[in-house]
Amino acid sequence: MVARHASPLQALLVDERFDGDIYPNEPMARHTTYRIGGPARFYVRANSLSALTQLVDVCEQEGIDWVVVGRGSNLLVSDEGYSGVVITLGRDFRSMRVDEEQHRIVAGAGVMLSAVVQEAFKRSFAGLEFAVGTPGTVGGALRMNAGSRGEWIGSRVVTVTSLVPGVGLVRRRGSEIDWNYRSTSFAPNETLLECELAVEPADPFYIRGKMEANLSTRKKNQPVNEASCGSVFKNPDGVSVGALIEELGLKGLSVGGACVSDMHANFIVNTGQATARDVLDLIDLIQTKVNEVHGIQLTPEVRFLGFE
Ligand SMILES: Cc1cc2nc3c(=O)[nH]c(=O)nc-3n(C[C@H](O)[C@H](O)[C@H](O)COP(=O)(O)OP(=O)(O)OC[C@H]3O[C@@H](n4cnc5c(N)ncnc54)[C@H](O)[C@@H]3O)c2cc1C
Repeated sequence: MVARHASPLQALLVDERFDGDIYPNEPMARHTTYRIGGPARFYVRANSLSALTQLVDVCEQEGIDWVVVGRGSNLLVSDEGYSGVVITLGRDFRSMRVDEEQHRIVAGAGVMLSAVVQEAFKRSFAGLEFAVGTPGTVGGALRMNAGSRGEWIGSRVVTVTSLVPGVGLVRRRGSEIDWNYRSTSFAPNETLLECELAVEPADPFYIRGKMEANLSTRKKNQPVNEASCGSVFKNPDGVSVGALIEELGLKGLSVGGACVSDMHANFIVNTGQATARDVLDLIDLIQTKVNEVHGIQLTPEVRFLGFE
């Protein structure tokens, strides 16, 4: 029985047929690798396409802000939190299958990217070694066109299926999407659901060698055991932003609990008690110094949620 005064969103979320898990006022610090972020009004794990569609439709109809997130490994959420609905993809979006004959991996957007990389390795398929050690989900990787060392996920996408409000399910070829440096041409309100990735059969020793080399470079150069969002800024054309920040002597610079990593100057780490405001102020400080000395305006790679 739903109270008369319940909004359509509340009515949906209390309906026992709704196929999702609902967490009201959920601290986003629990869902970001930064371990920072105030409460989301609702954090909802949509376990099926019907639940996701119902939820997105009601938010759209009621003019309620909503966003789909993955593992929160590229997100800075404000200390005040997010007054809308944060959606994450559950059960039906967390499976993967391998087509051995066609050399394809079909992965749901809620699958961890690392699981896809491991599955490819187990089946002796090459092509995804660049992604080893990149945290997050397939959906987040697609949205961000995650990559490293001159390789990126978009170059592997054969097809991608998404949900577009007011349109429904859309399936496109990878070649129909613009895959740019840490950005893509997906519409802002498009939820990525599944993709088909092309891989090639290869010697497992070759695949393992590449993965281990990539992982050891990461461990040597990045603060992988500290809370961060990975690279904070995009590299300007032909310039390593890490080197630029390091040359200015900014390694170790801190604001509150946020600190420029000693290992990699393009990482800001949460040393324990950092607030989103600390991170934001440190971002501003770095941008100002780099601009003063080099005349370069750094663009953040990290995505922001809940800031005005
Ligand atoms: C230690 C560390 C190392 C990293 N190394 C790399 C690296 O080498 N290369 C690299 O590219 N990145 C790197 N990152 C950044 C991050 O891991 C990637 O951007 C990752 O792909 C984000 O995935 P996620 O699931 O965590 O997305 P989130 O951070 O949750 O979201 C990122 C963006 O994608 C959107 N999004 C998420 N899922 C969906 C979906 N299903 N549909 C539509 N939109 C969606 C969100 O709304 C948000 O705008 C690193 C981060 C850390 C912490």
